[in-house]
Amino acid sequence: MLLFRLLWEPLPDKLPTAGRRFPRLRDLAAVLTAETVPMSEQERVDRRVRRGAVQALVREAYRAALAEQDSEHRPPAVFSQAWHAHLAGLLDQASVDLPGWGPVTIADVDIDLAWNLYELASRARQDAIEHAIATRSRCVERGQQVPTFEFSIASDGDSLGDVTYGICRPCRVGLLYKIEFPPDWQFCGLGRLALSQLEIRHADLTWYTTGQFKHARGFYCRYRQGSGSPWTTQQHPCPHFG
Ligand SMILES: [Zn+2]
Repeated sequence: MLLFRLLWEPLPDKLPTAGRRFPRLRDLAAVLTAETVPMSEQERVDRRVRRGAVQALVREAYRAALAEQDSEHRPPAVFSQAWHAHLAGLLDQASVDLPGWGPVTIADVDIDLAWNLYELASRARQDAIEHAIATRSRCVERGQQVPTFEFSIASDGDSLGDVTYGICRPCRVGLLYKIEFPPDWQFCGLGRLALSQLEIRHADLTWYTTGQFKHARGFYCRYRQGSGSPWTTQQHPCPHFG
């Protein structure tokens, strides 16, 4: 996942600039795995430390925006703005004490690199969301008398979240057992994509869900308005679900 590589893995010596002509994400991914140019060990360490501090700042701003998602529910573009605002807030301070990193003096930080990395990572996130697709349903064993399946919402081969469901063909009922996205991919329209896939793949079924967490109730309320299925938490919509 390009977003996580940009935020968590060691950065290459030359990071493409996110200018008017944005580097192709595939090229960017290739740069991240390319060989580094020869330099002395001391240069290498210095550079790694400087770049690591910049990366830790951009990551901290990302985590701050992510922590607010529980209450703010920001869609992708608004999330990017919040991330931007958090980074600006950090760069505005004289020094920032980063968890797992220690104090970073902002005057020593390569500000251009920080904004470039933010721009690349933010576009990598948006791109991952825009290109998210549902993988094929695969059979799983869950100790039920009805067939159980799962699929993922994936982007460029990486899973962003998973869906598990069962179907009872005689009763024409579908039951969503579990839909799970880590905070990084919540409020991105991926839950809607997952539910619509269930309806498309099993168009003759009426759909229900198991327990809905408090924060997901609004999501189901909105979704069922455009759906022919109730999507309610009726635990046993037919006698064949255990
Ligand atoms: Zn049944």
